[in-house]
Amino acid sequence: MAKPTHTASSTNRPRGYAYCAWHRGLSQSAVLVQIIEQGSGPGAGLYACATCRAQHHLTPVTDQ
Ligand SMILES: [Zn+2]
Repeated sequence: MAKPTHTASSTNRPRGYAYCAWHRGLSQSAVLVQIIEQGSGPGAGLYACATCRAQHHLTPVTDQ
C-alpha cells in the first residue's frame, strides 16, 4: 500500500473534497457510498469518487 507523499491535514482540507477509500486519496467527486457494519458501534461510512464508483459498481448512499 503506497502512502500519500503529503500528510493529510484535516484543518487545511478544501471544502467539497472527501477522502476516497478506494484509491486512497482526496477527490471532489467523492460521496458516501457504504456503511461498514461493526460489531460494537454505529459503523463508519466510506467515500468513493466517481471513477472508483464506476469501477467497483458502488452506489451512493443518497441513491439507495
Ligand atoms: Zn477513488
